[in-house]
Amino acid sequence: MATVTIWNEYRHEREDDEVAAVYPDGIHATLADALEADHDVRTATLDEPEHGLTDEVLESTDVLLWWGHRAHDEVADDVVDRVQERVLEGMGLLVLHSAHFSKVFKRLMGTTCNLQWRESGETERLWVVDPGHPIADGLEEYVELPETEMYGEPFDVPEPDRLVFTSWFEGGEVFRSGCCYRRGNGRIFYFRPGHETYPIYENEEIRQVLRNAVEWATPTRGSPRTFGNRPRDEP
Ligand code: ZN
Repeated sequence: MATVTIWNEYRHEREDDEVAAVYPDGIHATLADALEADHDVRTATLDEPEHGLTDEVLESTDVLLWWGHRAHDEVADDVVDRVQERVLEGMGLLVLHSAHFSKVFKRLMGTTCNLQWRESGETERLWVVDPGHPIADGLEEYVELPETEMYGEPFDVPEPDRLVFTSWFEGGEVFRSGCCYRRGNGRIFYFRPGHETYPIYENEEIRQVLRNAVEWATPTRGSPRTFGNRPRDEP
């Protein structure tokens, strides 16, 4: 059992009736519902003091989930620093959908993280392209999502260490939808599905991916990260 913190911007759901109808208690509550049978789950949102991500919270988090969209710029840089530091120490990070543009993800990737998009309710086939990967455990060949926002290549991120999913969209585009990275000791998974006006996080297969990804990103004990000047071990 991991200690999981779900971070949500939580603005769309409070300001837009269409979104509130899909996620009445916030996207974070729906994500928590998918994970809390297996993990110790808590949530944090942008408008809490320190965005709910105090030193104490981050220190005790094994895996952090991040969903944001319209208010990326309102995330304080010192919180971004803190999240980055914790990832380097080994905390897992799941970056969801429009969080491709979050300060946290851009900092960790070092690229623009830009992409193409179109909001027109198209069908998506989320193909498993690495069937032996633990994040794909229990899935069929692909997950079909009837109504989605299209994200298309080029996706300006570094080459992933492993690519688990590639999406195809009804309009013809493709996208690298499940990208694994390591930064320091931390494991990072970018997962594309999850637009605020579609009930993507109610989908049982998507919830399976999230559970698998939390397992995969949970830190292992590892070996000490020791840097700087070192005396000889041998005389
Ligand atoms: Zn979206």
